[in-house]
Amino acid sequence: MASLMSMDMAELSALIDCLGEPRFRAKQLKEWLNRGIRPEGMTNLPISLREKLSNIPFGGAKIVDRRLSTKDGTAKYLFELEDENLVEGVLMRYHYGNTLCISTQVGCRMGCSFCASTLEGCVRNIEPGEMLSFIAEMERSEPPAEGRERTVTNIVLMGSGEPLDNYDNTVRFLQLVSDQQGMRISPRNISLSTCGIVPRIYSLIEDAPHVTLSISLHAPNDGIRSQLMPINKRYGMDSLLKAAGHYAEATGRRIVIEYALIEGVNSRDEHADELSSRLRGINCHVNLIPLNPVKERNLETVTRERAEKFMARLEANRISATIRREMGADIEGACGQLRRRVLTERQEGKA
Ligand code: SAH
Repeated sequence: MASLMSMDMAELSALIDCLGEPRFRAKQLKEWLNRGIRPEGMTNLPISLREKLSNIPFGGAKIVDRRLSTKDGTAKYLFELEDENLVEGVLMRYHYGNTLCISTQVGCRMGCSFCASTLEGCVRNIEPGEMLSFIAEMERSEPPAEGRERTVTNIVLMGSGEPLDNYDNTVRFLQLVSDQQGMRISPRNISLSTCGIVPRIYSLIEDAPHVTLSISLHAPNDGIRSQLMPINKRYGMDSLLKAAGHYAEATGRRIVIEYALIEGVNSRDEHADELSSRLRGINCHVNLIPLNPVKERNLETVTRERAEKFMARLEANRISATIRREMGADIEGACGQLRRRVLTERQEGKA
């Protein structure tokens, strides 16, 4: 059975009918679920109904750790799912609102050579209700500023996992989160990042045409990309960039190209030139990210000067680019670090 958190209004109405309760209870129930409240806390429902609801899987998450950056206010959350799996979430503050970065899988099976999330493979997919629960829990721990309806205004699916490798759950999440009876977060305020599962990019045009698509490209050619990202051996750069260009045209939305700069691998001027010619004609913006070194990996980041030269070269080639601001560096902000530390502590505790 689907969990309560993963149900939409129609399913909750059917459930309430099935339990022999009046229809208006479904709306009350949905309002509680939008806030991530469990049946025992649903104080306007009769106790008999709360008891029946608590026999149904809830499918939520709870916060087990939180780190706040004193530098830029970035908050890193560690969530625990009901089966004790741990996933991270990060809240970043910008002048236009707050962006929550959430995960779509516990771990990842894509095997990118620079990424910490994939070191232990993929444990399991995250359910749509669990993704909603990250937002609800975070907002309960940090209520909206005065005059604001909510704390989280934007979402990026850029935590651990590959969203297009958990396609149905991700699309369902996108529907639920923007639903008028749900959290009402517009898909226009949501970015989805993928390593490039090409056929699913085409499916997204049908299923989620309003999200901003980010492509983790990280290389100017197939030789370098295949070394860094195993997915490139399955779907090469030509087919990936064709799909990305098609997405931009079909949806009218500019796509984002993510490019982690790695010393001695993909960050020389000639790479910037090659990248520029590959991107020509695609409505895109390049987001340059100086590599966040992962201690298990033998890759080096670039200097600020190199990153700036790389960007200037792209701009000289009339490709729009920015260098991503590093946030939360003082709170194990880099993907996967907080989770890995707590996992190790737990193992040591059990030993
Ligand atoms: N699987 C999806 C979602 C992950 S998003 C994807 O590949 O896009 C996380 C982003 O951070 C991706 O662009 C990923 O390539 C990038 N990333 C992972 N490890 C990194 C590191 N050590 N330094 C900089 N960027 C990294």
